[in-house]
Amino acid sequence: MTRRQEEALRRQEERYEEAKAEIEDLGFVLQGSIAKRWMECGNRTCRCHEDPEARHGPYYQWTWKAAGKTRSVYLSKEQVILCRKWIQNNRQLNKIVSRLRRISLRAARSYEIRE
Ligand SMILES: [Zn+2]
Repeated sequence: MTRRQEEALRRQEERYEEAKAEIEDLGFVLQGSIAKRWMECGNRTCRCHEDPEARHGPYYQWTWKAAGKTRSVYLSKEQVILCRKWIQNNRQLNKIVSRLRRISLRAARSYEIRE
């Protein structure tokens, strides 16, 4: 390894450690997304069945995939706040992991490994 490659590798190691530290500070992570829904009720005489503007809601639905199947549940207002944060954390985690991979590819070049 040349001196230049060693320096480059050291820089990648520093960036890698920084990214790992960001993961350490991350809270819980949830997959999926939250959708806002307006619903028709069970009362057949209610206006919501005629007028889309009179539908009930919003209701918040968290949807995610587990073992290839799409699953979803309705959330309370308190749960929405929590889930939003955790979903945001998950997106942040994915970004950091992508960064770790990019840095690793650069580190590989210091060893003459090229993708
Ligand atoms: Zn209704």
